[in-house]
Amino acid sequence: MYIDPNLVVDKESFKLIEVNAICAICKGVIISPVQCMNCKKLFCEKCISTWKKTKKNNQCPFKCKNPTFKPPRMFKNLLEKVKFKCEKGCDQEIPYGDLEQHYNETCPKLVIDFKAKYFEYKKKYQILEEKFKNYKRDIEKKIIEEKQKYEKLNQEFINLKNGKLFEESPLRIFKVGPPTGRYCLL
Ligand SMILES: [Zn+2]
Ligand SMILES: [Zn+2]
Ligand SMILES: [Zn+2]
Repeated sequence: MYIDPNLVVDKESFKLIEVNAICAICKGVIISPVQCMNCKKLFCEKCISTWKKTKKNNQCPFKCKNPTFKPPRMFKNLLEKVKFKCEKGCDQEIPYGDLEQHYNETCPKLVIDFKAKYFEYKKKYQILEEKFKNYKRDIEKKIIEEKQKYEKLNQEFINLKNGKLFEESPLRIFKVGPPTGRYCLL
């Protein structure tokens, strides 16, 4: 998230704290502040961690050598009363502490995004539903095939039990001698 200082509602009051409230790296209103224990300047926690990774010279942005950074004590009071206009253009004035929640949850302009999300999910659901129908069709087809196989086997078994199979079999069957009653398949 980046907080544009131009969105501050009361610009006159903000000027008094601006020097401590603006991050020297991103030029936005500071988010999750850390303070250089040497020059006492404040920065966003994220900006400093990126700064450390990219610069690697072990200096703070104001050239303090071997700086240590700690969260400042008084920062919350500094910005607590500052209100911002919504960057999405709703007509609410949002206190600094509520900005994240506003943009992620409560901004009325979010409704449009929810609608888009709804249609996105609906589309995904329809694709899944279509797939499911195809699977169902395949499985039903398979069940019918298996059932037919089973019925055929079952009928053969019954025929075998009743001694009919030999009579209906396409194979030529001969009785080998009436006295024994044995059969011979050729
Ligand atoms: Zn920053
Ligand atoms: Zn410093
Ligand atoms: Zn809004």
